[in-house]
Amino acid sequence: MKESTSGPILTHITIQKGHSLPPLHQCTTCCSGFHCPFCSESVFKSTRNDKLKLHMKRHFNRAVFHDGFSIHRCGFDCRPSLHYHCPYCETTVLRRNDFESHLIVCKEAHPESCPVGGGMYTRTAMNQRQKE
Ligand SMILES: [Zn+2]
Ligand SMILES: [Zn+2]
Ligand SMILES: [Zn+2]
Ligand SMILES: [Zn+2]
Repeated sequence: MKESTSGPILTHITIQKGHSLPPLHQCTTCCSGFHCPFCSESVFKSTRNDKLKLHMKRHFNRAVFHDGFSIHRCGFDCRPSLHYHCPYCETTVLRRNDFESHLIVCKEAHPESCPVGGGMYTRTAMNQRQKE
């Protein structure tokens, strides 16, 4: 297992800034296909580039968009079922509705944490944009 429980949860691969995706690379280690960056091989087998793009679209349809970043469902075996990682704490949540309510509560509880590295935008800038 590469993932350790003490790892920096704020930079989990399934939490992406804006609507961006991690770059999709052709595999050079175990096969010559493309792997989903959010799923383990047992959840989504490596496939052709165009098929993976369709799969990524499905990730977007299920993703939670929150405060300038997108959180995709994680298909790695940190839990037995598909789940979302909270960017503010180490909680993982299975259901999207539950996750959205957790985000609201958890953000209040951690007002200083800024997900995904931070520093790229400020809260005041976000508020100004909302007023316009
Ligand atoms: Zn491979
Ligand atoms: Zn996937
Ligand atoms: Zn996970
Ligand atoms: Zn949380």
